[in-house]
This record gives sequence, C-alpha cells and structure tokens, in this order.
Amino acid sequence: MTVTVRFAPSPTGNIHIGNARTALFNWLFALKSGGRFILRFDDTDVARSRQEYADQIQTDLHWLGIRPDVTVHQSARFDTYAAAADRLKAAGLLYPCYETAEELELRRKVRLSRRLPPVYGREALRLTGEERAALEAEGRTPYWRFLLPNFDGDPAQPRRTEVRWHDLVRGEETVDLASLSDPVMVRADGTYLYTFTSVVDDADLGISHIIRGDDHVTNTGVQIALFHALGTQSPVFGHHNLLTAASGEGLSKRTGALSVKSLAEDGIEPMAVASLAVLIGTSENVSAMPSMEALATHFDLERTSHSASKFDPADLVQLNRALIHQMPYEDVRDRLARSGVPADRAEALWLAVRGNLDRVSDAARWWRIVDQGPDAAPAFSDEDIGFVRDAFDMLPPEPWDHGTWKVWTERVKEASGRKGKALFAPLRLALTGLSSGPELADLLPLLGRAGTLARRP
Ligand code: GLU
Repeated sequence: MTVTVRFAPSPTGNIHIGNARTALFNWLFALKSGGRFILRFDDTDVARSRQEYADQIQTDLHWLGIRPDVTVHQSARFDTYAAAADRLKAAGLLYPCYETAEELELRRKVRLSRRLPPVYGREALRLTGEERAALEAEGRTPYWRFLLPNFDGDPAQPRRTEVRWHDLVRGEETVDLASLSDPVMVRADGTYLYTFTSVVDDADLGISHIIRGDDHVTNTGVQIALFHALGTQSPVFGHHNLLTAASGEGLSKRTGALSVKSLAEDGIEPMAVASLAVLIGTSENVSAMPSMEALATHFDLERTSHSASKFDPADLVQLNRALIHQMPYEDVRDRLARSGVPADRAEALWLAVRGNLDRVSDAARWWRIVDQGPDAAPAFSDEDIGFVRDAFDMLPPEPWDHGTWKVWTERVKEASGRKGKALFAPLRLALTGLSSGPELADLLPLLGRAGTLARRP
C-alpha cells in the first residue's frame, strides 16, 4: 500500500505551531514511509475562507520544509460532494429532516425526562411522502442526516454498535454508534458539513492514514461508518495530543499568537520550530535537529503523549541558538549576502560570530562592527587609555591569522604586566565597543592590521 497522508487546514487564519505539529507529523510520516503528502484546503466556508490565508499557509509550509505532492481545494470539488450525497440518498443512507432547533430541543428534554438517551429519535425517517410534501409546502427545506448503522431491522430500535480502530497514537479506541445522533451532513441551504466533505475527499483521494489532533477523536466513529457507507475501507487513524500555551489555554488561529508567520518574521529558524513542534509532548528530549531527515529519525507516533503539552516560546529561542551555533556557512550564505556582507568575508565572519548569535540576522550587526567600527566610541578610564594605546603600538606585522591574537596579547602582557580581565577587557572594548562578543582571535584577522589600528583611541 502506498502511504498517502493529508494536512487539511481551513484557510481562515494563519497557522500556528500546533497546526505546524499536525502538518509535520504527516510530512515526517510520509517521509519515513516513502509516501505522498496532500495539502487539502478545507475552504467550503466561503464566508470565512480567504485566499490570502491559503497563500500564507503555503508559504509557511514551504518555509518549514514541507513540499506537498498535490494541493486540492474543497471549494473546487462541490460536484464530487453532490455525487456522493446523491448516492447515499439513493441508498437511503442520507434522509431528509425538517425539525427546527427548537423542536429538537423540546424532544431532547422529553427523552431525558423519560430516561432515554438524548439522541435524535429518527422521527423524520417515519414521515410519509405526503407529510414531507406538506412540510415543504409550508416552506421548510430539508437538511440531511446520515443514518448510522446502529440497528438490526428497525432504525427506531438502535442497539449497541461498537466501531473500533487501532489508533496509531492512542491504541485501541471504541465508539458506540448508538450513543450518537444521526449527524447532519447537508444543511438546508445545500452546504456540506466538514465530516461529509472530509470523508468523501479522503476516500476519493486514497488517503491511507489520517493523522490529526485529538480534538477530532470524537468524529472518528461517524467517519469510519461513513467510509463504509461510501463503499471504501477506512484509513488508519492517529490522533496526536494538542499543544497549549504556557497558561494551559489552547492555541487559536484567531488570535494569531505563535503563528508560523510571526515566528519566521521574528528570526526563528524553521528547524527550531519543527524540532519543538514535533518533539514536545513525546518521550524524546526536545533538542534542535539540523534537518528534516534528522528529525525523522526521532519521530515516532507511538511515543507521543496522550495528554496536552504545554509549549513555552522561550524554548524556541534556545533551540534557535543551538541550531545557529552549529549552522554551516552554506545555510546562511544567501541571507548574509542579502544583508550586505561581502562574499569574500562572509564565511570568516560567520564562523567567527555564529557562536554568539540568537538570530542569523544579528550577524549583520557584527559585520557593521567589523567593517565600520564600534557603534559608539568606547569610553576608557584614564588608566586604561594609556594601556590600550601602548598595546596598539605593539601589533604584530601581517599576515594575520587565528594565532595573531595570542602573539599580540602575550607581547602586551609582558610589557604591561597586566593579565586576565585587566588585559583583555579594554582590548575587547577598543576593538568592538562591547564588553562581550565573539572570540577576538577569530575577529582580529577579519579586522586586519589597518582596521585594528583605526580603532586605536
Ligand atoms: N479542516 C479540519 C481542521 O482543520 C481538518 C480535520 C481533519 O484533519 O480531518 O480541523
């Protein structure tokens, strides 16, 4: 069987790190099994779906390193849904209902008072053709429910009917279809409910594995029944735990908090986001994985916790730093070029400064310091200024390399009698204008003798 997975966002907002978790779980699952990844936009709600969000979701997935094999829009598939609905109507598996919300609520109360389960009693199934015609003449338009297969001969007598599946994350799961009302699949205005379009598409597109958040576990019993009604084997399911903010609150597309877009704009590396999104809430340690392939080796749905995981944005900065400190020059070449670092100096600059950066963009600041000197003229004590001037008069001749710093400071140490902080701190201040930063042994060759001398106070 070819593995085919899908990520199915509705383009009603920017995706956040929790949505990225779902997308990445699917992507890594496909990557590990040589399968296909479908991006499906659940955009049947035309009032809330926006093209700009769909575009941004594609940008975000690309940024994360996800390359869908196929992209489909539900809004372009209404004919498929109509054909599937017609088939089910013809088979008597979708039936028309006319009750208003108030009528249903009243019936629910009556059932509860009679100690019956508060599910829909399938009264509409018993309507005769004449009664239906009369209701429609009254101006009522039907909506359509799916007849759950939870009875033997008489739909009015549902009996315990267990739907079971082996969940890739949660293990054995069971839903009793007799505990559910026949779900509405088509509204009176002809629009479809998510469950219907989702299952029709999953069947039609040959989805083999549905990996999604555990907020969908309760939909799965009905969806499995619907797959069978459509004459398709149901896919394998895996419901992963959700991420919550540090406060314990769920993440929401609406607030835009922790959107993938905002993290990218904030200079967080895609693999920092991916590493945290995938590894948090699993039995794996959260550490920065340099590539999707490396992350894939740590990805295992079975090792995912069954309860929600708190997510701390501060961890992202930690992971970002860890990634950048090891990041090869090739990975930042283009970005450094775009921020104006000349190609012949960029690699040396990168290797000198990467160990000090929180974000790749901070490298540009170090280039400015190397190229143009400290941001502000350093202020020295009377004692230090003479020391620094004397030190600069002892600079070794070129050519300079990594060893030059040691040669120079040994010489200065001997002549001045200073050592440790008293020796190094004023020199660092003179060279960079700052009290901390990259190894001066690495920076000195970048400055060159003339560049260094230009900093003599
Ligand atoms: N559009 C649905 C959602 O975002 C998809 C759920 C599913 O994966 O079936 O929740």
